[in-house]
Amino acid sequence: MVAALRMQQNQMMTPNPYKTALAQFDRAVKYLDYDDSIIEFMRYPRREFTVNFPVRRDDGRVEMFTGYRVHHSTILGPSKGGIRYDLHVNMDEVRALAMWMSWKCSLVGLPYGGAKGGVIVDPTKLSQRELENLTRRYASELIPLISPHADIPAPDMGTNPQMMAWFMDTYSMTVGYSVPAIVTGKPISVGGSEGRTVSTGRGVVINMVEALKRSGVNDFSQIRVVVQGFGNVGSNAAAYAHELGFKVVAVSDVYGGIYNPNGLDIPSLLEHQTINRRVQGFAGSDVVTNEELLLLPCDVLLPCAMEGQLTERNATQVQARLVVEGANGPTDPEADDIFHDRGIQVVPDILANSGGVIVSYFEWIQDLQSFFWDEAEVFRQLDRILVRGYDLTMRTAEEYRVDMRTAAQIAAIKRVADALKTRGFYP
Ligand code: NAD
Repeated sequence: MVAALRMQQNQMMTPNPYKTALAQFDRAVKYLDYDDSIIEFMRYPRREFTVNFPVRRDDGRVEMFTGYRVHHSTILGPSKGGIRYDLHVNMDEVRALAMWMSWKCSLVGLPYGGAKGGVIVDPTKLSQRELENLTRRYASELIPLISPHADIPAPDMGTNPQMMAWFMDTYSMTVGYSVPAIVTGKPISVGGSEGRTVSTGRGVVINMVEALKRSGVNDFSQIRVVVQGFGNVGSNAAAYAHELGFKVVAVSDVYGGIYNPNGLDIPSLLEHQTINRRVQGFAGSDVVTNEELLLLPCDVLLPCAMEGQLTERNATQVQARLVVEGANGPTDPEADDIFHDRGIQVVPDILANSGGVIVSYFEWIQDLQSFFWDEAEVFRQLDRILVRGYDLTMRTAEEYRVDMRTAAQIAAIKRVADALKTRGFYP
């Protein structure tokens, strides 16, 4: 199918995450006293880039693909954000994800602006060779925009460390020398960081633990956790939660979910998934749909798949008392209001899943300095920065008497706005 038709269909099918991102922004800036010009500036992405490019398939055909890269903000430093391969990718989704990256980096105190990229493709339908061709061509199309000091991509949905290695190699071959710091989330062998692969999921669980401890829960053995999405974020969150003694009762992937009220053995499930490429069929579990999974009896819900999952359609029936957003934008503003009214705590995405970009930052620093840390050091610094972000969010929530999402946005937007005010408008 040609890219343009795919694009049209995608835009008709999915809810608009950019509307959600703007609604969240508008909600937060109401509490802030900045000039309209500063607020207006931050509402807009700085640059938007669309590329249409050919990829040779294994059967010799040449197919056109469409990709995007958006830089939302570069006020605090180079822009940082992942690359998504998915059939639902569209410009508004990329804009939203880029804006969320700006707030995420700002909230946890990283010297980065926000960016995001994506290609409209179902990566499961391409061979390894085709994925390599696509990644290398997309990387070369982005060369005018990227550099270790301008814009540093990373993996997101549908992309993985191998693709980041192809990305790094393509950039390096173009400039004529190796530039590991051009991309993060790489394999260790080409300048990746210890702990990067597990960092987002691990960070989600660290946030869950903070939220529980601060509400007086210290024994996790009876805490039932449901995880939507069993990719990089979801599977690593489930694994770390299991390691800490939580009872992970249900997980799902794009094909559907599984449930065992007594808890799933996550290490065995990971083996099952490696062999079968899906979670269903795991011994001793019942089958549930993704819709049913979100409504199962549990204490904590970790949406770790994609945006737009918790809406006014299902938020009234969610049984969890705590939602920790591993995915970006899984809860829309209407669902946020319902959760607030029902006393369900939401740890927002820009805090909950910031572990990934925090360790990406460590990877970038290590690459620039050519000096590498051990895993213990990575996790020690990760924990420290996450808890600092959690503290800042709670302090802001108390100061402005708002929910955690609005607080996180307020704290993040303030840092960008203050820097913008200090830098001034060019020229
Ligand atoms: P991934 O591609 O590794 O995994 C995605 C998982 O979600 C897979 O198990 C897939 O089967 C499942 N899935 C896809 N569509 C689904 C649907 N409609 N219903 C249920 N499950 C579905 O992606 P990932 O890197 O784990 O990213 C997941 C989310 O986390 C995205 O929102 C991403 O933006 C966000 N995120 C990722 C990172 C990272 O470091 N990878 C960092 C921060 C945020």
